[in-house]
Amino acid sequence: MLEQSDPEIYTSMQKEANRQKNGLEMIPSENYVSDSVLAAMGSILTNKYSEGYPGKRYYGGNQFIDEIESLAVDRAKKLFGVSHANVQPLSGSPANQAVYFALLNQGDKVMGLHLFFGGHLTHGWNVNFSGRFYNAVNYKTGQDGTIDYDALEAQAKQERPKLIFCGATAYPRIYDYKRLGEIAHSIDSYFVADIAHEAGLIAAKVVPSPAGHADVITTTTHKTLRGPRGGMIMCNGNPSEPLKPLPDGANPRENLPTLIDRAIFPGLQGGPHNHTTAGIAVALHEAMQPGFKRYAQQILKNAKTLAESLMAHGFKLVTDGTDNHLMLIDLQNKNITGREAEKALEDVCITVNKNTIPFDTRKPYDPSGIRLGTPALTTRGMRESEMKDIAGFISKAIEHANDAATKERVKSDILELCKGFPIFKYDW
Ligand SMILES: *Cc1c(COP(=O)(O)O)cnc(C)c1O
Repeated sequence: MLEQSDPEIYTSMQKEANRQKNGLEMIPSENYVSDSVLAAMGSILTNKYSEGYPGKRYYGGNQFIDEIESLAVDRAKKLFGVSHANVQPLSGSPANQAVYFALLNQGDKVMGLHLFFGGHLTHGWNVNFSGRFYNAVNYKTGQDGTIDYDALEAQAKQERPKLIFCGATAYPRIYDYKRLGEIAHSIDSYFVADIAHEAGLIAAKVVPSPAGHADVITTTTHKTLRGPRGGMIMCNGNPSEPLKPLPDGANPRENLPTLIDRAIFPGLQGGPHNHTTAGIAVALHEAMQPGFKRYAQQILKNAKTLAESLMAHGFKLVTDGTDNHLMLIDLQNKNITGREAEKALEDVCITVNKNTIPFDTRKPYDPSGIRLGTPALTTRGMRESEMKDIAGFISKAIEHANDAATKERVKSDILELCKGFPIFKYDW
């Protein structure tokens, strides 16, 4: 249908589908959703307005939308072991924005991991709303690339932020959620765990969960969780309880669900994207199946194998390895910058992104590292032996970044590999 009615868009979509099929997608925040998730998203649910929450809408005709959103909420609660979930945030950044809006006043102090050390823009970076409207201080990793919890604790006690974020876009290790919760609560601060990257690994219980330690958990739904682009906010408590008057200065932890729901609507957003909500519900259902646990285990095995193989090829990895789905290559011993390496890999159809490394001496637009991960390759069915081959391809492309003939050979090997792991059942 689209092919006839809008050939320009159709053709671009076709080209994008081919790009996704014929290359190695190694950006750790990307994935391939299932046909069921696509079916829910590309549906008539986008036609409906439903401002409010199930049972409390500002528009009529929402009986079936209520069923869908309630299912999504129930599945999120069950999967992540929390008593409250809001599935309406339009993505990860709006989810974090809602947490600020719910819990802080403008100018309040927040503390998050520094952007150049793997942190996210929304954790207090100066050009982001979080750094402009709030008083943001950053913590950093130690020289070894891991979070120095003693330093973090000392900084928190000195700065006394009202909210501490953990979570990152480029941190290859496990977080000590218990310690972070203790640090935050010792200064009467909120602890917010942003699990955007690890959500699928946490749902599958292959890495630890912040549930029980964090006051609030925020996430995207489209990274390792393998759902549509969207966000969720989770916490404990009962949203039907009215907000209680608080003693001066106390943090209203018992009212978190209400504060968060009000921050999303009417605080920041209008009508929820019901087609996305349905897609999230489908993805959460998939994440409850035994096959998803196997998927998550394989992501970790693939990441370990890729990391070890890269190190065997002489690459230096930040923290010398990984505990999760991603790794950061420190390219300083390879006489190539992150931007050049990203380009060399793109030339052979491997998609990664350039990234700063801890204590980087270069600028973010052309930093010293690249970031890569295994979630999308694992969805395609690739396993340890493919990871070893891919480490070889990466090494060749980077060592021969200026040698078109070698890159052409690597590219054709990669195309051959991709053919063995088809990704789309239907033709786009
Ligand atoms: C990806 C990510 C986000 C933001 O998600 P968007 O959907 O891109 O807005 C927030 N926090 C962390 C840690 C992330 O990795």
